Amino acid sequence: MLFRELAEIFTGLEATSKRLELRQTLSEAFRRVPVPELPLILYLLQGQLRPEYEGVELGMADSLARKALALAVGRPEEDIAELVRSSGDLGDTAESLLRQRTGPPGQGTGELSVTGVYDALQAIASSTGEGSQEEKVRRLRELLDAGTPIEAKYLVRLVLGKLRLGVKEMTLLDALADAFRGETGFKEARAEAEAAFNVSSDLGEIAGRMAEHGVEGLRGITAQVGKPIRPMLAEREASLEEVLERMDGSCALEYKYDGLRLQAHVPSTRGTQAGTVRLFSRRLEDVSSQFPEILAALPDALGGGPAIVEGECVPIDPVTGELRPFQEISRRRGRKYELERMQEEVPVRLLLFDLLLSSEGPTLAQPYPERRARLERLLRPSERIGLATRELVHDLSSSERFFQQALADGCEGVMAKSLAEGSSYRAGTRGFWWIKYKREYTHELADTIDGVVVGAYRGRGRRAGRYGALLLAAYDPGTGRFPTLCKLGTGFDDATLEDLTRRLAGDERKGPDPSVVSTLEPDVWLEPRLVLEVRGAELTLSPIHRAGDGLVRPGYGFALRFPRFTGRLREDKGPEEATTVRELLRLYQTQVRRMEGPEAGTDPGRPAPRHPRERRGTGEAGAESP
Ligand code: AMP
Repeated sequence: MLFRELAEIFTGLEATSKRLELRQTLSEAFRRVPVPELPLILYLLQGQLRPEYEGVELGMADSLARKALALAVGRPEEDIAELVRSSGDLGDTAESLLRQRTGPPGQGTGELSVTGVYDALQAIASSTGEGSQEEKVRRLRELLDAGTPIEAKYLVRLVLGKLRLGVKEMTLLDALADAFRGETGFKEARAEAEAAFNVSSDLGEIAGRMAEHGVEGLRGITAQVGKPIRPMLAEREASLEEVLERMDGSCALEYKYDGLRLQAHVPSTRGTQAGTVRLFSRRLEDVSSQFPEILAALPDALGGGPAIVEGECVPIDPVTGELRPFQEISRRRGRKYELERMQEEVPVRLLLFDLLLSSEGPTLAQPYPERRARLERLLRPSERIGLATRELVHDLSSSERFFQQALADGCEGVMAKSLAEGSSYRAGTRGFWWIKYKREYTHELADTIDGVVVGAYRGRGRRAGRYGALLLAAYDPGTGRFPTLCKLGTGFDDATLEDLTRRLAGDERKGPDPSVVSTLEPDVWLEPRLVLEVRGAELTLSPIHRAGDGLVRPGYGFALRFPRFTGRLREDKGPEEATTVRELLRLYQTQVRRMEGPEAGTDPGRPAPRHPRERRGTGEAGAESP
């Protein structure tokens, strides 16, 4: 396929933000693409070269890209810098400069192929060390020499890591299901594609298999060491009584540790193919290098592998072995240097709570009691690796005792786990098979909310020169959009505001991101990226904020009253992992029930749940109703 054709597809995608139109444009394109090139195109559409978890960074420095463009169009670099200052985007500048180009014949004829471009981008991304800058400039210049103006725009955005077409993974899955479902219905094909993606996390692989064998091709996808599995997620309840009711009277309660969720992939240490141990965060980033002591301890603790296990990595006091506050472990995130000193200053322990693959193969389909029993048999606990504390409970008083013990031991609450036959590991899915229950606060919402920053207001007086407040949104998985929830101006000290202003500066944009739904106009619009934890007094119905619009009353969304920053940046969560509108609805209902007494209904007109694990909310894409 020619890169020119792909650039046309990019242009088509930029022209709309409607999910259905995006799906149609993509699905038509996917049917036209030759099968071997399809995986590459899936990565390129996301501005990547490989699945995200591999962490292959395109991000060429702006200065190098300017230099390549200057050479390609025969203009001084300063001119280019000047033009970018007014256009705001080097891609746009490249396009307009190439339109004015009068070069020798053969230039810009649009003969670049997708594979040729992909290989060149890969060479740019992988070249390091001495001479690598010249190499990157040379490669980009060659592409620009051969490219048309439109191609140049996208080539520049790609190498800078700023393609930002706004096509989300969920939309790509829609399009793949649509393109390759064959005789299968769209909904079914879409569900299968998402289930496979939850296990493989590689859209290129999903696309390749679907293009070749349709929905059938997805059946072969299973857990593999080295490929992160999307984490299973928990629902919440406001009381232990409700937790037990949901669980039919019995469940396992585990300590809910406050740390970093890690998925550890341990290849077999036997045989000749011994690979490296990898640790993935909840967002599937490879964070292996940050915890060398955990990497080293895992193979022995797990009988030499292969294994995929999940647990919470917590800071511990080296003297007493007790848990330390979560904030300490955040000092170890994102570090490249002084890893050794950090190991001493902030020692950690990984407390395992699930087993997803063992030497006998994937265990995802087994019920939780079976997986936990296998994990217990496999694990040889050590100073660095342990097992999450748990107890089987059948009544309220033992549940309360365990919960109090968890708090006393420094945990934030408990995680209840279903013992039912159907309690398999549901990758990437939130459901009542796991229920979190945290300490309750009086005059507070039962839980904190994770909001996405979508805009900011400039500070005044003492806060001049920084942001003074932020506009936060929730996430709506049904539409893939971010409707606003509150303005947040409390809970920051000056240093934090300074830090946030600096962190968010690169996210500023001219208008609202198409996925943001807001009736408010902040001073600055921001790319929805950073997630913050906030606490609030209650959720109210608001004609201004758009989160959960119409779920309770037509024309009204939820607003968070008296929001306050807890001090915690949820860098472990992506914007799509922020609190969803359906979770807000549940919090709202819990709050109404608490205010009206335990017997009061949730919403007028909404029937009481028939089964303890049945969900009461509205439909959420990818939600689980057992
Ligand atoms: P939250 O981040 O508040 O939605 O709570 C869910 C998180 O709790 C998970 O993603 C884990 O990081 C963490 N967690 C702590 N202990 C456990 C446990 N025993 N089982 C499952 N998740 C746990």
